[in-house]
Amino acid sequence: MSQYLFKNFQLLEPSLDEIRGGYELLVEGDTIREVSDKPIKSDRATVIDCGGRTLMPGLIDSHVHVFLSEVYIRNLESVPLTLMTARAVGLVKGMIDRGFTTVRDTGGADWGIKESIEKGHIVGPRLFIAGQAIGPTGGHSDSRRRTDYGMRCHCCNAMSFTMCVSDGVTEVRRAAREQMRQGADHVKIMMSGGVASPYDPLTSLQFSMEEARAAVEEATAFGRYVCAHAYTPEAITRAAHAGVRTIEHGNLIDEAAAKLMAEKGMILVANLIAYYAMKERAGEFGMTGDMLEKNDMVIDGALRSLEICKKANVPVAYGTDLLGQLQVEQSREFQLRAEVLTPIEIIRSATSVGAKVVRMEDKLGTLRAGAFADMLLVNGNPLKDLSLLQHQGRNLALIMKAGQFHKNELVH
Ligand SMILES: [Zn+2]
Repeated sequence: MSQYLFKNFQLLEPSLDEIRGGYELLVEGDTIREVSDKPIKSDRATVIDCGGRTLMPGLIDSHVHVFLSEVYIRNLESVPLTLMTARAVGLVKGMIDRGFTTVRDTGGADWGIKESIEKGHIVGPRLFIAGQAIGPTGGHSDSRRRTDYGMRCHCCNAMSFTMCVSDGVTEVRRAAREQMRQGADHVKIMMSGGVASPYDPLTSLQFSMEEARAAVEEATAFGRYVCAHAYTPEAITRAAHAGVRTIEHGNLIDEAAAKLMAEKGMILVANLIAYYAMKERAGEFGMTGDMLEKNDMVIDGALRSLEICKKANVPVAYGTDLLGQLQVEQSREFQLRAEVLTPIEIIRSATSVGAKVVRMEDKLGTLRAGAFADMLLVNGNPLKDLSLLQHQGRNLALIMKAGQFHKNELVH
């Protein structure tokens, strides 16, 4: 098994409050074998002199869509699955180039793309998948036009491939089981209206309590969990009572809903950048006025939701939810959160909290011994300057995933 011994770096371990010098770190195979403040002995390790740079865990984005390659989602109707997949190749490569060594897809990505990365057919981050996002008729994942009657074929374009409509306890059960049969790591359900869907009011309540409970029951039975798309306190509260584990977006959360989430041990996956980027640029890509109006309803709540959750002790993970052409903005979320949070809190959201979301706290988002060797070497100290994580990974001298170099600028 290959060994690498990292020396001469500043250690950014998210469980500590500050950066620390004087450590050495040994990688063996895909794992961090040892981290020590004393010299580590190894006869066969390749020594890597980090030149005083900062070593930190690879980043985790807990809300992405690798198959939603169009900002105006309706355009996905004319994207065949071959083109959808080809575009995803570039999208996932961009993510790992920016230092995201793990991403969690919350609707669309299937086991095929996950397997393609795991087997090395394409280059990308570790991928956790939901399969199709499940919602009710007329809800956030109902991709039909008003003029469509009946259901559509589910196999021929990128829009119907990524979304699923089901109504009533029996159908929701079947849909959740179906996603898990196809390898889903978590089940995604729709609890409130959304921005990018044209016909559902943002404040609409979508799955009923019984339907949400059915999804949770099946996910739990299979050893999985449910994540729910929800903006309003009503939708978040219903999801919490149904046993949902993570709330996606949550922009309009209030103190009572946050308190309930804390009591239930839930996590918020916020994604501010999606709303800012849509406001700035989605018009260029054909997003309609109705959708942009809904975007305005939630953009103001975004920063406030972080403050409310911080006060209520609800962990908040780093998410982006950027569609297609806007995915290049993935790292700007760091900057946006800096308005209300400290750099270490933001780094934790994209490391240790993300690891908690995917239930791999010992293996991801940390540099402790036993974790996967998913690491970044940063030219500078991100706790002093978060903008080092911008610019498509330009300030990352080294990116390692599972002990393999994705990038290494230290060897020439
Ligand atoms: Zn999403």
